[in-house]
Amino acid sequence: MPGRGIRIGTFAGIPFAIHPLWLGIVLLISWSLATAYYPDQVEGIAPGLAWALGVLSALLLFASIVAHEYGHAIVARRRGLEVEEIELWLLGGVARMRGTARRPQDELAYALAGPGVTLVVAALFGALTLVVSKDAAPELHALVAYQAFINAAILVLNMMPAFPLDGGRVLHGLLWRAGGDVLRATRTAVSIGRSFGALLIAFGVFAALSGALGGVWFAVIGLFVMAAGRGEALHAEAVGLFGGVPARELMSSPVVSIDAGVTIEQAVRDVVLLHPHPAYPVLEGNRAIGMLTASAIEQVGADRRAHVTAAELADRDPELLVSPDADLAALLDVPAFGRVLRAVVIDTLGRPLGVLSITDVERTLEAHRRLGTAQPVP
Ligand SMILES: [Zn+2]
Repeated sequence: MPGRGIRIGTFAGIPFAIHPLWLGIVLLISWSLATAYYPDQVEGIAPGLAWALGVLSALLLFASIVAHEYGHAIVARRRGLEVEEIELWLLGGVARMRGTARRPQDELAYALAGPGVTLVVAALFGALTLVVSKDAAPELHALVAYQAFINAAILVLNMMPAFPLDGGRVLHGLLWRAGGDVLRATRTAVSIGRSFGALLIAFGVFAALSGALGGVWFAVIGLFVMAAGRGEALHAEAVGLFGGVPARELMSSPVVSIDAGVTIEQAVRDVVLLHPHPAYPVLEGNRAIGMLTASAIEQVGADRRAHVTAAELADRDPELLVSPDADLAALLDVPAFGRVLRAVVIDTLGRPLGVLSITDVERTLEAHRRLGTAQPVP
């Protein structure tokens, strides 16, 4: 899954990461090009040259995927969305954004920006295919023809109207613009996308049963599309319910906290065993500096508890400290909140007012569902 990439640099102010397994995909594509495509296209090609062209083609393919993702990211940023990073992983690339578009025209703009880049790349290589003569330079012709073909194929597949593909995002933007209701647009887009997913699965199984084993891939993509649709719908439901709701409304107080200077041994004896909670704000004076989780405490061996302080063990990510006015829907997208599943709500002087946990959020969501103010996710 995305999210475990190794950062290799920053371009246009947006960090760029590569998933370790991605190297395996580059090798796999290079191998299939070097042993099948190039020998087919260029009669009598030397194996060394076929491999060199195979690797070059795989890298060019990923360069165009990166360009596609930067297309999304740069337009999204210009439209006021925060872009965390771009990552290359197994199924291509992903531009990870924080939050969602506020207006349908913004969503349409950034959803179309990536395919727009791919269209330009495919057209450029398509033009080169016409310019480079197959007789004069068969290797070069095969190289540009492959880029034209693969980019065109990516463009077509990616515009299928199903989340998480760009076509699903575009469909959502169009429905939202037409109806003006973002939540209803999500429900419709998700059910259309899931129908496509089901069709893909049926087609894949049918193809595989009739002997075309490659059909299995269609079924895998279908399952992926179905799962992504459900995630999208749940997220939209939470954003719809909690958008504009300040953190203070759902936080729990009073707060049981731990002093930064105490050892874990003291903290366990004086606080944790008396008030068992999944996490505690850590205070320096009366200011919160981070969060200490019960699971972090459990990982400290009994022999080391007297030597480690709460401050040393605390998660000090500044994003774990939020204002009482912080928007709940936006908070749900903060990576630190996703990791620790709670945040400390602090006043302007940094004093803790309460703890907001995912349990509070889920309980509220559940109550809305039971009482009929939220609809079940398809
Ligand atoms: Zn895209």
